[in-house]
Amino acid sequence: MIKKNTKLDWQQELIQAVSDYRELCRLLDLDPASLALPAKGLAGFPLKVPRGYIARMQKANPRDPLLLQVLPVLEEDQLVPGYNLDPVGEKGFNPVSGLLHKYQGRVLLTLTGICAINCRYCFRRHFPYAENTPSQQNWDQAFAYIQKDTSISEVILSGGDPLLLNDRSLRAFSEQCAAIPHVRRLRIHSRIPIVLPERITREFIAWIKELKQQVVLVTHCNHPQEIDAAVIEAMQGLKKAGVTLLNQAVLLKGINDEVDIQVALSEALFSAGMQPYYLHLLDRVQGAAHFEVDRTKIETLYRALSHRLPGYLVPKLVQENAGEGAKTVFGASLST
Ligand SMILES: *Cc1c(COP(=O)(O)O)cnc(C)c1O
Ligand code: SF4
Repeated sequence: MIKKNTKLDWQQELIQAVSDYRELCRLLDLDPASLALPAKGLAGFPLKVPRGYIARMQKANPRDPLLLQVLPVLEEDQLVPGYNLDPVGEKGFNPVSGLLHKYQGRVLLTLTGICAINCRYCFRRHFPYAENTPSQQNWDQAFAYIQKDTSISEVILSGGDPLLLNDRSLRAFSEQCAAIPHVRRLRIHSRIPIVLPERITREFIAWIKELKQQVVLVTHCNHPQEIDAAVIEAMQGLKKAGVTLLNQAVLLKGINDEVDIQVALSEALFSAGMQPYYLHLLDRVQGAAHFEVDRTKIETLYRALSHRLPGYLVPKLVQENAGEGAKTVFGASLST
């Protein structure tokens, strides 16, 4: 009981996220001198990692798979041909500020540009959020757009991380959505249930239960070590509230590019109530080339994965391509 009362709430957890490189090293018993920061510094895309996520890392291991997702490194400075600032070509599908309408029947709203964690491989690391996140009055424009197009049956709350919005803002948002009868599903794309499971409060679950649309939550978990008791508890609460829980992962060199890890990830996700949905090939964003897995290795890995798991535990291997009407889905071979 006492422990519960002294626990920080999620907003405090967020404020206390680690942004200092030296502090991260100290918490993990690592020597900062042995790691090489990007020479240009981190002003563009700072270090940011919640303490609860750090607690799942192995101490004194500079190759820890969770650490490698958040640790800024010198290789980010490399300019590699083919890696650019807008790899998925989002800028052309932006009819209204904060709204992306790329795929039929679905619109994606970037409700905030901020995340609870900064993942170094993220394709949004150069996204011009400042001009492209709707303040609440801009939501009206987005809702007007959705209202007018009756082919839109699903609204995807994305970002940044939409679960950084407080419950009051989420409620205001969903009330406006509820007034549009052709919107049948709300989908939430969030890494927060994994990296900051404290966010899944009783109040949040109460909001979910009030929604009249079906709710799908697509989490983002890349490694079985990310799933701890707090994550499992959050997922159980969401599952009981009737949410369909899916997961997307990104295939990352040195982090989850071994078949045993992918098998363990699928098993751990399913045990916690999530269904593997997508395994994304890396978006070729400037500064992330060192995460790219060799194509032959991907084919071997994915074939082995398909053999080792029941079909429903094999995520679809996909890639986002600029200008295409859907994500490209690969079979066991990467040529389509
Ligand atoms: C990925 C994505 C979606 C959702 O695609 P699904 O294949 O339905 O998961 C929708 N809009 C945009 C812009 C996307 O990038
Ligand atoms: S949480 Fe998602 S959107 Fe945010 S930095 Fe990580 S990968 Fe990017």
